[in-house]
Amino acid sequence: MNKGMETQGLDQMVLEKGAIKKAAAYLAKKGYQQVIITADANTYAAAGKQLEQELRKTSRRAGLCIIDPGAAGDVVADEQSLLQLLIEIDPEKTDAVIAVGSGTIHDIVRFACYKTGKPFISMPTAPSVDGFTSKGAPLIIRGVKKTFPASAPVAIFADLDILVKAPQKLVAAGFGDMLGKYTSLFDWKFSHLTADEPYHEPSAVMTEKALRSCVEHVDDIGHRTEEGIRILMTALIESGIAMLIFGQSHPASGAEHHVSHYWEMEYLRRGSRALLHGAKVGVACAEISRLYHDAADRGVYPGQEPEALRQHGAVIREWLEEVPPEGEIRSLLQRAGGPVSKAELGIDDALLEQSLREAHHVRERSTMLRALNEA
Ligand SMILES: [Zn+2]
Repeated sequence: MNKGMETQGLDQMVLEKGAIKKAAAYLAKKGYQQVIITADANTYAAAGKQLEQELRKTSRRAGLCIIDPGAAGDVVADEQSLLQLLIEIDPEKTDAVIAVGSGTIHDIVRFACYKTGKPFISMPTAPSVDGFTSKGAPLIIRGVKKTFPASAPVAIFADLDILVKAPQKLVAAGFGDMLGKYTSLFDWKFSHLTADEPYHEPSAVMTEKALRSCVEHVDDIGHRTEEGIRILMTALIESGIAMLIFGQSHPASGAEHHVSHYWEMEYLRRGSRALLHGAKVGVACAEISRLYHDAADRGVYPGQEPEALRQHGAVIREWLEEVPPEGEIRSLLQRAGGPVSKAELGIDDALLEQSLREAHHVRERSTMLRALNEA
């Protein structure tokens, strides 16, 4: 867990029961007098209120910013939410801003901190995503989602007492985000081999170890045992740190993420309530696994056989052995207690087909999905 942390500007990383108390001690040690706790109504109840009480004990002044839900009923990282927080930040007096909550709350805070130069402190309330340490914030601006530069946290306080109470669907989403590493790690090697995209072995190894520990403990994660939640949260943070070390998202994001982003953009266009990131990634990973194994092992292509497969078939098939078949991925998702099929997510056949044909346009990345679609 500590490997590489020091070099990434992370001052302190606490994952244990009672981590909230350590957050209060950290702020006191840093001499931060005035901080802003940013949460939504749910995460305020789950952790924000307790943090506020702890801060009061050390006589810190804690401002509070409860982000209001958007039109569809969930909190969104958009112009309104950002402005709501920016209004609370005092250029002179605010010492730091603490994100208490989900990936979305983190995105709002990390962007606001980047623009105001304030330290950003992370307090995840659910092991739902690997982006807590990200230096990019996906924001929805005028209805379009785009990722903007943002601050990585100076400290993370993940309290196991709070994380074990997170709803199962958020835990399963975190597991889905981790399962997606099967195909993202494959795509990373593929893009390095076929398009000479940069590759960094230590980041790949770190991500792969994090993935394996989750798969080995899938039933603990499904039952939300303390051990299972600790392992999942550790893996999510390590995956995030691997991306920080490498400086780009390659280790943790391949075609399965591009398909997930494609579905997300379509839901935005329709004005539908957003699906959980990791729930989409897990199901998309199963779809990509099917497509890739069909192509490399069975010679079934959407179009022609890609040049890359003709040239490097043997090594690609060898790498693909590390990617479990579709059925195994779905069964792991089920054991973690999450959705396993597109139907459960409300994705219809037409949207799935369209996304598998077009999702490679979402990012400039030489994934095997791109190779299959451009052959
Ligand atoms: Zn992800």
